[in-house]
Amino acid sequence: MPVAFVGHGSPMNAIEDNVWSRAFRDLGSRLPRPASVLAVSAHWYTRGTAVTANERPPTIHDFGGFPPSLYEVQYPAPGDPALADRVVGLLGPGVASTSLEWGLDHGAWSVLHHLWPQADVPVAQLSLDGRAPASRHVEMGRALASLREEGVLILGSGNIVHNLGDAFGRMRSGDLTTPGWAAEFDSAVVEGLQSHDTSALARLLESPAGRKAHPTPEHYLPLLYAAGAAGRDPVSFPITGFDLGSLSMRAVIFGGD
Ligand code: ZN
Repeated sequence: MPVAFVGHGSPMNAIEDNVWSRAFRDLGSRLPRPASVLAVSAHWYTRGTAVTANERPPTIHDFGGFPPSLYEVQYPAPGDPALADRVVGLLGPGVASTSLEWGLDHGAWSVLHHLWPQADVPVAQLSLDGRAPASRHVEMGRALASLREEGVLILGSGNIVHNLGDAFGRMRSGDLTTPGWAAEFDSAVVEGLQSHDTSALARLLESPAGRKAHPTPEHYLPLLYAAGAAGRDPVSFPITGFDLGSLSMRAVIFGGD
């Protein structure tokens, strides 16, 4: 099974027919159908690592100020408690625990809704340990790589450049040009991915450019799990471009084809 990372962008991509939602549909048709998905979303940020073990994970509408139609979206995919147990086991003693306190947040369902619209592929979600250094997230991805042989799609969901202060400023001013620092960070990540240099990818987050691209790290960390699980598999970029000028919507497939 390949590994994937998707830039989810605005929650509205779940219900709008736009360039990004059409690209997510397209991506769904390019990916093999997995036995299950392990989603690593930017939006479940915890102390320690948790993995959802719900039989029926609830659809979480973890945002404010959007139209009612977005709150009506349900993504009733089954959970996969056995996968949750496997993940806890692979991460080793004392690292992760199963949880019934979460479900699928919009980082997961706004994309999955397009990848598998029938919601018939089981999904477990992995949280991001906010205390762990960047390199640790790569290691955890690496520890989960063997799930691929069991048909599990490891799906990171974040954004490779995510500075909402900048993006919303551009939206207000109407200047949706892509600033140099955003394009440069996006390119540096591409270089790290193409050379399979996971240490460089981890370090990038902690560089000055990384702090500009990610004032907070959560939208970048899911990429590190994907890169860790991917090993030296070739990368391709089925989706590229920026929303609101500086929000990178780049998607990555590792392996496959
Ligand atoms: Zn997000």
